[in-house]
Amino acid sequence: MQHILESHTDLTAWFAERKQPTFRTEQLRQWLFETRAEQFDDMSNLPKELRSELAQSFQMWTSTTAKHCRATDGTEKLLLQLADGGQIECVLLRDEARRSICISSQVGCAMGCVFCASGLDGVDRNLTTGELIEQMLRLARLLPQEERLSHIVVMGMGEPLANLDRLLPALELASSESGLGISPRRITISTVGLPPALRRLTEECPKYNLAVSLHAPNDNLRNELVPVNRKTGLTAIMSEADRYFEASGRRLTFEYVLLGGLNDLPEHARELASLLRGRPALLNAIPYNPVAGLPYKTPSHRAQKSFREILQNGGINVQFRQRKGDEINAACGQLRRSTPRIVPLRTSETTA
Ligand code: SAH
Repeated sequence: MQHILESHTDLTAWFAERKQPTFRTEQLRQWLFETRAEQFDDMSNLPKELRSELAQSFQMWTSTTAKHCRATDGTEKLLLQLADGGQIECVLLRDEARRSICISSQVGCAMGCVFCASGLDGVDRNLTTGELIEQMLRLARLLPQEERLSHIVVMGMGEPLANLDRLLPALELASSESGLGISPRRITISTVGLPPALRRLTEECPKYNLAVSLHAPNDNLRNELVPVNRKTGLTAIMSEADRYFEASGRRLTFEYVLLGGLNDLPEHARELASLLRGRPALLNAIPYNPVAGLPYKTPSHRAQKSFREILQNGGINVQFRQRKGDEINAACGQLRRSTPRIVPLRTSETTA
């Protein structure tokens, strides 16, 4: 059966075939993206027969919520169970007026970053466009009716640039007025940096914010921390990032997870400052969030402060990412396929 969210653009034709007035498409759009209906039968201004015909022709959800956690800082995390048994996590973050979501792009991850929970079991498969949009809608449904999603970061499980074919249509719908209407300026794709895919993004769709996960200022160290770097190398990544900036005009973000004693020393900060100097970039430093079973350490406040100062003195814009959602393992790098793989269905579980 077709997914209603995948076949979104064909709906006008579908209604026309059934001799329905053209405003039906808009009505359906409002139910899906604004009222955030749970099922076709709730769409009370559509004729009852049409609702059941929709239900026979289209699927509205392919995933179910297997677990729902809420942290005291307002962060909520959903564990979604996919039709084939795979599991992914996605997160809603509240920050003053912002309502940001962090979505996953793959079941698991193949990049192998040594400090990240998402890649511990490798990758299973790419998410479909429908599954990408379902994460957005499921998270939007956690908001009261008068609130709307304001930002999307594709920074959950998986490598988004390894799944561009499905991601781009999903982001198109997220940013389109006939979808969620979130400005592309408020959508960020975070990537480990895959040069050919970065080139494709620059050529096809340079309208989103790009964040490149760096984590090391040179290839030797990056090869250790981000194994996929052995194939790509920093030089190619930096020059593709520069091209993206030229095409998009959007300031680049570089992410840098600080691992105590490993990549947070003064010499790393100095080398990083010279790598970034002259680039219109923001360095987003992320003190390591602990992952059960991994040996890495969050740097002391002192080490963090000195790292920040060296960069600032080197003329680099630095921001430290606020840790959110860590009490429910929803912070950066903590998203994973939960074990056991099949979790009993629970509609809502509050840990706060
Ligand atoms: N594959 C993409 C998106 C997922 S990672 C990428 O690499 O960018 C999203 C961000 O979380 C990255 O910057 C990543 O390095 C960071 N991250 C991963 N593990 C982390 C951890 N344990 N603590 C803090 N940040 C982490």
